[in-house]
Amino acid sequence: MTEIKTETKRDEKTEVRSIHLDDYVALLGEPEIDEIRTLAGKLSGRTVQMVNSTAMGGGVAEILNCLIPLMDDLGLKPRWDVITGGNAFFEVTKAFHNALHGGAYEARKEDFDLFHATTELNRKRLQFDCEFTVIHDPQPVGLIESRPGHAGHWIWRCHIDLSQPNPDVWGFLRPMVFKYDAAMFSSPSFARQLPIPQYLAYPCIDPLSEKNAELDPAYVRSVMDRFGIDVGRPIITQISRFDRLKDPVGVVRAYQIVKRYADCQLVLAGGGAVDDPEGGVVLEEVRHAAAGDADIHILDLPPWSAMEINALQRASTIIVQKSLREGFGLTVTEGLWKKKPVVASAVGGIPAQIIHKHTGLLAHSVEGTAYQIRFLLSNPAIARKLAEQGHEHVREHFLITSNVKRYLTLFLHSMQSS
Ligand code: UDP
Repeated sequence: MTEIKTETKRDEKTEVRSIHLDDYVALLGEPEIDEIRTLAGKLSGRTVQMVNSTAMGGGVAEILNCLIPLMDDLGLKPRWDVITGGNAFFEVTKAFHNALHGGAYEARKEDFDLFHATTELNRKRLQFDCEFTVIHDPQPVGLIESRPGHAGHWIWRCHIDLSQPNPDVWGFLRPMVFKYDAAMFSSPSFARQLPIPQYLAYPCIDPLSEKNAELDPAYVRSVMDRFGIDVGRPIITQISRFDRLKDPVGVVRAYQIVKRYADCQLVLAGGGAVDDPEGGVVLEEVRHAAAGDADIHILDLPPWSAMEINALQRASTIIVQKSLREGFGLTVTEGLWKKKPVVASAVGGIPAQIIHKHTGLLAHSVEGTAYQIRFLLSNPAIARKLAEQGHEHVREHFLITSNVKRYLTLFLHSMQSS
């Protein structure tokens, strides 16, 4: 096992780069870009506030990092706020997160009290005066209490799989969700019985970001050299926060089965997120499972590693996402966009991306994951075909421009129906 650790020193800040819609013309064509401009023209100068619980790490921060500047380029006035909360709060919300994904949870009054108290602090700290307020995920859901009168349009954007939520946690959150004007989910199967309209919106990636743009092969090579990974031998990679629901130990087990039959290396790369305090413990479990194997590379990356992650994905032979539960799995989208064959679990939003035997391969267990990896390693022509088709699937459905269009349409619809 080789391991790289880089210290996290940056502050949590919602700094975003500037993005111009015109930059996407070459990729998407004029008609698509014109359609977005036409929709945005009707929303010019309208204020939008996005609120979530971390500026770095995880899929939501990844999306907001491109959604905000793109809305700005389109003439809206977007703002991104991140709630603050201590470790104890994020331990509670992580327990809620796991429980909403169907995990065990014993309801404790002190958890609910801490949730309310942190919400109150953030209500005092943040300003709510925009025409459209989009609250992402359960951590900030209680901010709805700050809605001035019945002003503006408040949308709860849920990125997690709510199909089998723990009843105590959902029972606690549900009355807050009911107060929104609408809810947005990443898959039709996540929708709940709610008295408010529900919309479907797939998460997305920015093809021009540091995480996804084309890279100079020499740079890719230099990153692999830096991490001590041999580009001459097959590389199987999972990029994920060290989170039990991403099942990194299951990935090690699958790799160990594959390794009995084929030469390969395993890369497990991930870092933490402020709103996920479990990372250190899970990382220890992974280290333990990987001990003694020099072909397993555990990379504990800081949050500003977008280009390194891009390089790792591009250098990989196969991308794996062996999640036990998954809202959507942007790492799958990123792998497909880079024309990589992907083996991923058939959970949450992943089957919307991996159409089995068409855009990648689905698996249901450690053994199944190992089987599919072996299949791809010994059938490179099929692997290439799946990867090509996966790339086109992402182009059609999961790029940031589709997501912007979805928000613009929802905003326009909210204005018309109010
Ligand atoms: N990611 C990252 N650094 C890491 C681990 C993940 O930048 O150390 C990125 C990853 O490339 C992807 C996002 O974080 O863009 C993870 O989104 P996903 O939907 O896969 O999972 P989430 O973490 O939101 O559950």
